[in-house]
Amino acid sequence: MKKLAILGSTGSIGVSTLDIVAAHPDKFQVVALTGGGNLELLKKQIEAFSPQVVAVLNGELAQKLRRMLPANGPEILHGVEGMIAAATAADAEMVVAAIVGAAGLVPTAAAIKAGKDIALANKETLVTAGRLVMDMVNERGVKLYPVDSEHSAVFQSLHGHRMADVSRVILTASGGPFFTWSAERLAQVTVSDALNHPNWSMGQKITIDSATMMNKGLEVIEARWLFDVPAEKIAVNIHPQSIVHSMVEYVDGCVMAQLGVPDMKAPIAYALTYPGRVPTGVKPLDLTALSGLTFFNPDFSRFPALKLAYRALEDGESMPTVMNAANEVAVGAFLSGGIRFTAIAEAIEKTMDLHQPHLLNSIEEVLFVDRWGREKCRELLGIANP
Ligand code: NAD
Ligand code: MG
Repeated sequence: MKKLAILGSTGSIGVSTLDIVAAHPDKFQVVALTGGGNLELLKKQIEAFSPQVVAVLNGELAQKLRRMLPANGPEILHGVEGMIAAATAADAEMVVAAIVGAAGLVPTAAAIKAGKDIALANKETLVTAGRLVMDMVNERGVKLYPVDSEHSAVFQSLHGHRMADVSRVILTASGGPFFTWSAERLAQVTVSDALNHPNWSMGQKITIDSATMMNKGLEVIEARWLFDVPAEKIAVNIHPQSIVHSMVEYVDGCVMAQLGVPDMKAPIAYALTYPGRVPTGVKPLDLTALSGLTFFNPDFSRFPALKLAYRALEDGESMPTVMNAANEVAVGAFLSGGIRFTAIAEAIEKTMDLHQPHLLNSIEEVLFVDRWGREKCRELLGIANP
């Protein structure tokens, strides 16, 4: 019985994780859950999985949730301290890090410090603080399993091989809904166009990131830290069918790939049960039913966000933190109707241009740079700072 703390349980990854837990009650027990403001769903999850600790965004939501539950319910905490308490819950053996955005960093880092194994969905943790987080992982000897489907595919394609023999890590990308759109059309994209992903059903922020291809950029940075490969060895192939989830190429020309129907339950379950596997309900792959598998090079001019991520890695140190912060602000501005789709990458680039990259020595310094990036990007976009 593996005891789990699930951070971001009300999100897309959180809900899929709980589906797997519900299908295998002999294998998993939930000891902690955290959510944002979706109290109705959180209440249902508490009733179904009986966690000991639950955390929500703020004190007001915590009060509301307490009133919705019987007196003998779980301990209800709130804010960053509450998230940290859930991430470090004494009984938890593994923490599923599925909060969206840089908000996931502090609770995930606390879980690592507490020696918990991590199933990592929150890629922003590695984008904003990759070196520091991997140092902590190595110092504490915790296991960090990727949930992101591409990184799960790379992880699986590396088994039994030596890192020294890897010539390239090839991340696949669906290309998002605008893969074939002209630059002129991209400037006219609406929020509902951008939220209409062809292959994956995900939270809003990552869906917009997929449409700009910043998601792939974040994944290049995630791969750099997870597998300790330099950026020049990480390639991106557009693969609109999303069947080949990523590949590893070796020096002898052999390529290992992992294939499957696109469904996050497969990589989530693998992170939870590694090295074992359990049924997930994911449909079997029938290659004969597909009309073909195609692969293309990404177009950096129509999708500049991907190029910005390579630049951030090259500039190094604090630059990916700034890029991520600006992306979160710009995506939020686009979702609320404040800026055009193509202005997202423009705002990120301008924010990066204002930053002098420097070494980050602590999570506190990461948070400082994250705040700086948000403020600068808001200034550029004419948005008031909260
Ligand atoms: P989502 O928006 O559906 O869910 C996010 C969760 O985080 C919710 O539970 C929400 O309440 C919580 N949350 C939001 N802001 C918070 C804050 N400030 N503090 C604490 N909790 C907060 O997002 P998602 O699609 O499930 O993605 C979660 C993470 O997993 C992201 O980092 C994303 O990039 C990554 N990921 C998602 C998918 C996918 O298929 N959805 C695939 C790969 C990786
Ligand atoms: Mg992915």
